[in-house]
Amino acid sequence: MIIGIDLGTTNSLVSIWQDGESTLVKNLLGDFVTPSVVGVDDDGRIIVGAPAKDRLLTHPSRTVAVFKRLMGSNASIKIADLVLKPQELSSFILKQLKEDVEAFTGEKVSEAVITVPAYFNDTQRKMTKLAGRLAGLKVERLLNEPTAAALAYGLHEEKDNEILVFDLGGGTFDVSVLEMFDGIMEVRASAGNNRLGGEDFTRAIAQYFTEQLNHDGLIPSDRLHKLEPKILAEAERAKVHLSTHHEYESHLVEDEKRFAISITRQKFESVCESLLSQLQQPILQALNDSSIAANQLDHVLLVGGATRMPIISKLVTKMFGVFPNKSLDPDQAVAKGAAIQAALKSQDESIEEVVLTDVCPYTLGIEVVTDTYDSKLVQGVFSPIIERNNTIPTSKMQTYYTANDNQESINIKVFQGESRNTANNIYLGNVTVDVPKGLAGHQSIEVRFSYDTNGLLEVEALVVQTAERTSSLIVTGEDDLNDEQVNKSLEKLKSLKIHPRESMENTSVLYRANRLYEQNIGEKRELVGRVVDYFTGILESADEEKINAVREQVNRELDQYEL
Ligand code: ADP
Ligand code: MG
Repeated sequence: MIIGIDLGTTNSLVSIWQDGESTLVKNLLGDFVTPSVVGVDDDGRIIVGAPAKDRLLTHPSRTVAVFKRLMGSNASIKIADLVLKPQELSSFILKQLKEDVEAFTGEKVSEAVITVPAYFNDTQRKMTKLAGRLAGLKVERLLNEPTAAALAYGLHEEKDNEILVFDLGGGTFDVSVLEMFDGIMEVRASAGNNRLGGEDFTRAIAQYFTEQLNHDGLIPSDRLHKLEPKILAEAERAKVHLSTHHEYESHLVEDEKRFAISITRQKFESVCESLLSQLQQPILQALNDSSIAANQLDHVLLVGGATRMPIISKLVTKMFGVFPNKSLDPDQAVAKGAAIQAALKSQDESIEEVVLTDVCPYTLGIEVVTDTYDSKLVQGVFSPIIERNNTIPTSKMQTYYTANDNQESINIKVFQGESRNTANNIYLGNVTVDVPKGLAGHQSIEVRFSYDTNGLLEVEALVVQTAERTSSLIVTGEDDLNDEQVNKSLEKLKSLKIHPRESMENTSVLYRANRLYEQNIGEKRELVGRVVDYFTGILESADEEKINAVREQVNRELDQYEL
């Protein structure tokens, strides 16, 4: 069985193909959504999901979130006394989702389809695959999130249509224009911003709250800095509240003093004005790149939790003059689509065949030397071979000539990016071919790029005179991952202790209670404290039956202390 995973910046979900349909699988705590948060507990063991998220507030130095934004970078993330890479952190999430499916089906799982933002570049895709490998999953395919959403909406079963997917998650924004034509689902264009998401809206509110709290020196700036996690938590709550209400009012506690904070929907709109305008440009670019006019669209899909904000529907409706489609839960669409892709991959009979194509999100090319009008050589010039937004799989060829007299070899350096200057693009790898000596410009090579839907690039060079071919050089993808590096990561992860699954439910109730203790004040706080003591006592009794009976009751009791 291949599982489908939406590995989100904020939240991750897993689904499987079962009885002819895509079925989301609940985690150990009974939720479909697992927050993409990793923490280290007081015994140095890794915790993942909601209990880790609870500790963002109470143990900020032992907890990390939104690390997907660092995917593909060389960042080292400090968490308690560990130093981890973004792909290592992601692997904990994937592993837990894998185990959730194993617990649900009773079967071992070893293969997955994982979704990635359409905007992810090659390194980011590669690292996502690596994360899968570190979690013990063979990544059968990476699937663009918007394509997954269109599958979830069943649009691959419809006749010809044009679709725009607007996906605003926690940390990424993707716009894709898809076309369903003759049984082929094609991504015509994708654009976006992998540094823009719902969290930015939260931060805009937090900024506004901070100004409120700092007004007339109410709370001095240095103390406000310490309060940052609490202000952010309040801002997040305000944002979600404003999706269904017109005003949010609360207070913040500092030194046993209460400070009022509030925001109206109207004020919210004005503090995120610049964010809203940033959403428009990628939409225009995707439409432009796909040569599809806004009024030709048959469907506009809203995907991602942040599209629950009414200002987003409003913006989209205004831009397209039609109401967007949001009949599926916007958090779940991508994960559902991933399992549909998994079924397609394993050729499940219960699913009608549909051919999926994608687009290459960036231009791929090589470095060349060109000459100016006065015959001076210019080094480091980018020569595109496969242009951005080309449909993939694709294969494209270009001919190049020697630049120097008696040149003996040509070093083909492969880059990804849009700049004419290769120094500004991302270097992917190189291949060297020997050419017969001769005058400059007299020897030629044909360079062929073949790019597949997994984001793997094959570079093939043919020396025209000798007919010698140098090929099968996979510049990107899993195969060129440095094995030593992978093994080092695997060793490191093996040495880490993971919080045992058996006690996770108890732990999560305890962490939640501790968070609520910090968030409440006065009498309520005292009552939460008593719940903590009571439950800790029960846990110490080690009487499993009793613990299980009491846990649910405690959890329900805690509900009333949620702000
Ligand atoms: P990702 O794909 O990045 O993991 P999700 O699609 O799960 O993200 O969306 C997460 C974002 O959605 C968060 O920024 C969260 O605050 C926001 N969100 C979730 N529910 C709501 C809501 N009801 N109103 C406003 N924003 C919401
Ligand atoms: Mg998402």
